[in-house]
Amino acid sequence: MKKPFVTLEQLQEIVQTYPTPFHLYDERGIRENARALYRTFSWNPGFREYFAVKATPNPQILKLLKEEGCGVDCSSLCELLMAQRCGFSGEEIMFSSNDTPAEEFALAAQLGATINLDDLTHVDFLKDTIGYIPKKISCRFNPGGTFQLGESKEGFQVMDNPGEAKYGMTRAQLIEAFRRLKELGAEEFGIHAFLASNTLSNDYYPALARILFQLAVEVREETGCNVTFLNLSGGVGINYRPDQPANDISAIGAGVRRAYEEILVPNRMGDVSLCTELGRFMLAPYGHLVTRVIHQKHTYKEYIGVDACAANLMRPAMYGAYHHITVMGREDAPCDHKYDVTGALCENNDKFAVDRMLPEIHIGDLLVIHDTGAHGHAMGYQYNGRLRSAEVLLQEDGSTRLIRRAETPEDYFATAIWE
Ligand SMILES: *Cc1c(COP(=O)(O)O)cnc(C)c1O
Repeated sequence: MKKPFVTLEQLQEIVQTYPTPFHLYDERGIRENARALYRTFSWNPGFREYFAVKATPNPQILKLLKEEGCGVDCSSLCELLMAQRCGFSGEEIMFSSNDTPAEEFALAAQLGATINLDDLTHVDFLKDTIGYIPKKISCRFNPGGTFQLGESKEGFQVMDNPGEAKYGMTRAQLIEAFRRLKELGAEEFGIHAFLASNTLSNDYYPALARILFQLAVEVREETGCNVTFLNLSGGVGINYRPDQPANDISAIGAGVRRAYEEILVPNRMGDVSLCTELGRFMLAPYGHLVTRVIHQKHTYKEYIGVDACAANLMRPAMYGAYHHITVMGREDAPCDHKYDVTGALCENNDKFAVDRMLPEIHIGDLLVIHDTGAHGHAMGYQYNGRLRSAEVLLQEDGSTRLIRRAETPEDYFATAIWE
């Protein structure tokens, strides 16, 4: 069972102030989850979560996470500027980008961010751009091939293709990059790797940790570089479907700790700091897309037309992703009606659900689309002249606060040349 973090009564109150559709975020859930992550890694000296800004680039969300001790992981100029405006600086900013424009390296260096290089050629590109190599620097590793975990009758629990991914360096390139960086004055080195996305397994981070830790020991031996931090990046997923078990962050942390004690500690690397760049895991379950049913259509199928569309949440249209839907006020009614739940875009993939069994729906009903807190509003766009919605924070005391206003037609027209 997936339960909304608001009741129908609360929502009826909220929609008096903020018309649908909008994204609603749960401050309490976000804070409690961030605290659980920090508790899990409290054994590690210097552990820090750098929230992946691209997942939910909202200043109020970033400030809230800052209060919980998080830094930010940026990958573009605007994300760096947003981090700066939110008061992040220096060690609180990780810059993990790829195909990086020169001005982005320049701003990252100016802010004192930790720069994570995606390619061997970026070593000299960075030096030529900013005129020096920062003392603290990181490189992104890509082991190639496929990465899989937990084979069972249903297939692998985790399966991804690093060898097909554009990110990161080969092992040999990483060694060469470290040697070159050291020659150019770097003193503190980190290694980053991101091997699989949206993993539902308590074994993903521990397996990644083993690969990174072993590599760190070898790289230190081969290059003499002082490896002081290792970045497990993002990729810890969430259970979008109600029948999937959620990840257990304390089991994940314990698994990483075992790898740390077996590999790093005996190799005199028991002071290496770990960091994460989680996006989805930090925010996705704590966001709802709230929308109202405005039409019901019966042709060859039963359609429910809502006032949100793929411009507010692209994942179903883009990846065929499942997002659970709750018909508010009918949480316990039997799911005995089969519907397609659609938005208004002139694109047939603008469907939040296809052939979904739901309780009977009426025009005017409020629907909650679950798990939209990450890669939800963030991936919004204006196709078909559909505007991006407001974002509202449900605060710990039960009150609400607007944290981004809805776009207006004037916003949409603002960049056009009219004369
Ligand atoms: C997208 C991204 C993340 C966050 O990924 P999630 O799946 O949301 O955890 C972290 N690091 C980098 C470099 C990314 O590109």
